[in-house]
Amino acid sequence: MSKQSVTVIGLGAMGQTLAKTFVHNGHPTTVWNRTPGKVVEGATHAPTAAEAVAASELVVVCVLDYKAAQSVLDLIDLSGKAVVNLTNGTPAHAREFAKGDYLDGGIMAVPQMIGQPEAMVLYSGSKEVFDKYQETLNVLGQSRFVGEDPGLAALYDLALLSAMYGQSAGGLHAVSMVGANRGDFVESLLIPWLTATMFALHTVGESDPESPDDIDASNDLGLEQPGYLR
Ligand code: NDP
Repeated sequence: MSKQSVTVIGLGAMGQTLAKTFVHNGHPTTVWNRTPGKVVEGATHAPTAAEAVAASELVVVCVLDYKAAQSVLDLIDLSGKAVVNLTNGTPAHAREFAKGDYLDGGIMAVPQMIGQPEAMVLYSGSKEVFDKYQETLNVLGQSRFVGEDPGLAALYDLALLSAMYGQSAGGLHAVSMVGANRGDFVESLLIPWLTATMFALHTVGESDPESPDDIDASNDLGLEQPGYLR
């Protein structure tokens, strides 16, 4: 059976890698980038975004931000197309952008990880689109559908990055505290300690049955969510 054809809009560091990975996995791939000259071997380079979109039913977008994605897709007829937008932004951006057969995505990987099992891509929006194209999307990494609200992938993406940055900052601080006494501190103490303390995360957000009134309905922790995440 012939493989699903894919169009990739945006050939930055990430878009190029996505396109190369589709080509590498035998998917007929059409690409377009605002600035000509970025080459993906084995892909068809469309002269305009409209021609690139016309070439495939599945259109993957990966540009700088939603404003850029909007400016590219705004004047293009997307009827009959499934748009998978892997551009980063906020949940509000994703919800505003979602129209028709739409999946929003959050890539939890750097380009070097794409196509490897450790790469994870979060998707939210149309479950129908996800089910139809999951096999194709799986070539990028593990595909995780997180819900039909198109903003969820962006929300979880930001939440996971926030956890990672907090952990990295704490780890760097710990290493700088031990300084010259570092020895094998990282391998023998820091990593096992962080791994062990991760266990506590299982209970984060679980309400205390003794004091259910302490929990605000806005989220499990009773914390005010920043406006951009709502
Ligand atoms: P780059 O800066 O390498 O590339 C940006 C891309 O966006 C280029 O193709 C650029 O085109 C295009 N672009 C910018 N502005 C416009 C515009 N107004 N109209 C059309 N195209 C435009 O970024 P990445 O490829 O690294 O990232 C792309 C997306 O993927 C971002 O949202 C990023 O947050 C996300 N992402 C990236 C990761 C990474 O590690 N790189 C990891 C996870 C997510 P041109 O060549 O013409 O400038």
